[in-house]
Amino acid sequence: MKLICDVCGSAIKINQKNRSTIDPTSKNFCSKDCLLGLIRMCHPVPQSELTMNYPDTGNIWSVDLRRFFRSSYEVEVARFLTESDIEYEYEQYLFPIKNTVYIPDFFLPEYGCFLEVKGRFGIGSKEKLKVFREVYDYSLITIPWHRRGLFGL
Ligand SMILES: [Zn+2]
Repeated sequence: MKLICDVCGSAIKINQKNRSTIDPTSKNFCSKDCLLGLIRMCHPVPQSELTMNYPDTGNIWSVDLRRFFRSSYEVEVARFLTESDIEYEYEQYLFPIKNTVYIPDFFLPEYGCFLEVKGRFGIGSKEKLKVFREVYDYSLITIPWHRRGLFGL
């Protein structure tokens, strides 16, 4: 099973047991550099269009970032953004999707980019991302479980 990196065109090898962690409606990246490339391709969103979420915090404390997240994968991605000098907001906006809401993990205000950091997909969560991309004209990049090695997990 191979995916193609949407930035450099390289093949991304996915082994059998990670196949279920592919988000079929996301653009793909092979490396951290190519993730930065995807981030630069996002299109800006007027923040006035967005609906604020009032998040309850996760329970994974990051000592260096001095805040809570929901998973250690999110912590690693937040660290990567910080090291790359990219400002982020965490779980700050919500989007009605059918009869529920979707809250992307990160928003990058300088780029207009939403990031979804995904461990295993729960029931309905791939569908939620697909519907978000159909309904809203915003850039949403999934950072899937099969790329976790890039972030040291
Ligand atoms: Zn690439």
